[in-house]
Amino acid sequence: MLQLCVVHLGGNVEKVRIYGNYVENDVPPVEMYKQEVYSDKRKKVVDLKASGLNRPVDISWLKAASLKYQISANIKDYVVIPVPVITSGIPNRRNQSFSMGSLLDFDTEYKRQRYSTFVGCPTYVEHKNDNFLEAKGINLDASLTYVPAYNLYKVNVLSAFDRTKYPELTEKILKLKTNQFSMGAVCTTFRCSLCGNLLGPGVERTCKCPGDYTELRSYGNIVNNKLHYISAVDPVFIENSWVADPADITAVGNPI
Ligand SMILES: [Zn+2]
Repeated sequence: MLQLCVVHLGGNVEKVRIYGNYVENDVPPVEMYKQEVYSDKRKKVVDLKASGLNRPVDISWLKAASLKYQISANIKDYVVIPVPVITSGIPNRRNQSFSMGSLLDFDTEYKRQRYSTFVGCPTYVEHKNDNFLEAKGINLDASLTYVPAYNLYKVNVLSAFDRTKYPELTEKILKLKTNQFSMGAVCTTFRCSLCGNLLGPGVERTCKCPGDYTELRSYGNIVNNKLHYISAVDPVFIENSWVADPADITAVGNPI
């Protein structure tokens, strides 16, 4: 695993927003009113075998989250879609990626591994993620699948959409055979794929290669048979969006 040597400069460090490649669900949406909800050792859980998950999902926190996002507290009101949201080490179209090491890294602020910061994040449409009240639902779960043939991880999230609040959206999701999604994250530090050194607003730059993290067109070239891209060192996930037209993703702005 990569050693993460991040030197934080203190104060309010600027965070860089990252949007993922669009991905499609390979398992159909699950209508939660058809699923079993029960209590397992006093925890409220839901059976999500229909999504391919062979363990119950803890939803005892949904009511508390629903008050913040103003979405339904009742799990039966949701349409849930398993989304293979990230593949480690594969750069997005803007030459940013998430390494295996950074997904497994433990975030001391959120007290959990970084990939699991997806849990509790709102779901949106088209990355309209500036206001929690625009939430169309919530991510109920995040899990990792190791793919030994390629030595990479896939992050799978269970993205829920509230059909009582957004019936048109959820009807569309249920009607479509495949839906497209794209995730959002923030980070302060990147690692350069060419030299392995660091850059970004959260760190003193040690990468001497050309390239500017705020100008992603400066990446994507091949140098000595290696693709030049930047990998997020300290990602925190903020959302997963349903995307009607994946071509629009490139129009999303970068730094916040
Ligand atoms: Zn470099």
